[in-house]
Amino acid sequence: MPRKLAAGNWKMNGTQADLAELAAMAEASDAEGPEVLICPPATLITAAAQAAPAMAIGGQDCHAEPKGAFTGDLSAAQLIDAGATYVILGHSERRDAYEEGSDDVRAKARAAQSAGLTAVICLGESETEREANNTLDIISGQLAGSVPDAATPENTVIAYEPVWAIGTGKVPSLEQIAEVHDFMREKLSQRFGEEAAKNMRLLYGGSVKASNAEGIFAIENVDGALVGGASLKAADFTPIIKALA
Ligand code: PEP
Repeated sequence: MPRKLAAGNWKMNGTQADLAELAAMAEASDAEGPEVLICPPATLITAAAQAAPAMAIGGQDCHAEPKGAFTGDLSAAQLIDAGATYVILGHSERRDAYEEGSDDVRAKARAAQSAGLTAVICLGESETEREANNTLDIISGQLAGSVPDAATPENTVIAYEPVWAIGTGKVPSLEQIAEVHDFMREKLSQRFGEEAAKNMRLLYGGSVKASNAEGIFAIENVDGALVGGASLKAADFTPIIKALA
């Protein structure tokens, strides 16, 4: 069984003053328990890595190219240089606001993995797609399109994040989460073999909080969570880390 992962996505939130929250979260991280990852804004990666050495630190996006005239972007090597070991890719906010498709996500994931980062590849259906009973088709397409052929359990984590559950307080039923996670495990097994698929961590994301974490983590193919709002404060994130222990 792979080591569980509690991952936090701070999005465009946080300044130096919030590093104290990280130090408090780090107290809940130990080598015996789940791995804890925080993806702060890029401006805080170096300071976060120094403030919380027991935790992993990640970026929230990277460019597919290693360097060049891409104003405002960051390469995978730059994230590593700043102190990151992970990067979130294909978050629905980027797929939506920046029109990133699965081909873009796969190119970024390839760049991240070749540079030495672990890619947290996000996918999930919209509310309309779920209502039209297209969830598994969407997941199948995004999984096939976004995950590079060179994916391994070490360089890849998959996060199932139904778009309609992100930041909304709406959460799929435990049966719906289980159905998608079982499906992803099976698809990964067909593509990468049973052993690799078994060890590739599958996170659920979308309105995870202390009160629903235990139920979600009891689902067989859920290996952790990608958490947005509830990862900003130690008081909210620490119980989620503990629920995974
Ligand atoms: C996210 O943005 O990845 C996320 C899961 O957000 P929230 O936990 O706030 O729904």
